[in-house]
Amino acid sequence: MAPAPDEPGRPAGGTPRAALAELLAGNRRFVSGQPIHGHDVTAAAAAASGDQQPYAVVLGCIDSRVPLEAIFDQTFGSICVIRTGGHVLDRAVLGSIEFVVGQLGVPLVMVLGHERCGAVAAAVDALRAGERPGGSLTHLVDQIAPAVTEVGLADPRVGPLATRRHVLRTVAALRADDLLAAPVAAGRVGVVGALYDLATGTVTLLEG
Ligand SMILES: [Zn+2]
Repeated sequence: MAPAPDEPGRPAGGTPRAALAELLAGNRRFVSGQPIHGHDVTAAAAAASGDQQPYAVVLGCIDSRVPLEAIFDQTFGSICVIRTGGHVLDRAVLGSIEFVVGQLGVPLVMVLGHERCGAVAAAVDALRAGERPGGSLTHLVDQIAPAVTEVGLADPRVGPLATRRHVLRTVAALRADDLLAAPVAAGRVGVVGALYDLATGTVTLLEG
């Protein structure tokens, strides 16, 4: 059951499964054009009045077409959001996820990739050209490159397939993280991968 609009926070149970069900229910509200959470100042004030009790953390891409709170129809105080190009991990991202899981007791981590991701395309281009882009963009490309290599540059669907591989590789890295591995193994924390469809707004879970 979805929390009432004026009651931001985690759904009953606090399990990875309940958190995932809540996130996906929010995406269905978004897709159906019937969101219940307007991002108004009243909800912000209600959330600010107490401690935060988010029930999930979503790591997504910076892409302007994928605003995470909106596509999951979430209100203030309900989810933590981290966005980097191609949802690439670095120490700040890992530390942030370790914080919300360890300190805030959040039971679910979702990695959300999307179609036509510019960061994945940059990695494909870099591998094709045999040239790294330079600057810190190199970090993004280097983190995504193994997924592209796994699919193979010759594959005509290298972009979308590498995006899926990269999501699953990111999930695997998080499940193996120093501070996350134990709660994940115990079933207290779930780490899942998903893809966002730009045309329909639908979020689909990836197996892996
Ligand atoms: Zn992207």
